[in-house]
Amino acid sequence: MTEGGCLCGTVRFAVKQFNSAIFKCHCSKCRRAFGGASSAAATVGEGDFEWLKGGERVREYQCESGFKRRFCPDCGSILPQFLNDFRLYWIPVGLLDSDPGIRLKHHIHVSSKAAWEVLGSGARQHGEGFES
Ligand SMILES: [Zn+2]
Ligand SMILES: [Zn+2]
Repeated sequence: MTEGGCLCGTVRFAVKQFNSAIFKCHCSKCRRAFGGASSAAATVGEGDFEWLKGGERVREYQCESGFKRRFCPDCGSILPQFLNDFRLYWIPVGLLDSDPGIRLKHHIHVSSKAAWEVLGSGARQHGEGFES
């Protein structure tokens, strides 16, 4: 069991078991929703996810295109959402309290990634903050 929640703690959830891998999506909508280079998420079967707290307070934004994001009304954290077409929950993995045991395996929508983003070994990788 892995638990997670938003920045302020209003919303909490638990996952019994994740599907195979973490993926980062570099599409323009994920970049805006996360305010970063990409989203990082994993999927979970319908029966392997539950809201522990605050599930009824979750707010939803939907674009005309159908793209949806759920978020905490108090702190704005992106939250899990149910993907009806696939019968799966989409879980932003940055919300998790502990290591879910799966690893980043896929970068998707790379063709629309930000011009400034460097993927792969071209950029130096820092364990924590910037060390000299
Ligand atoms: Zn919150
Ligand atoms: Zn995306």
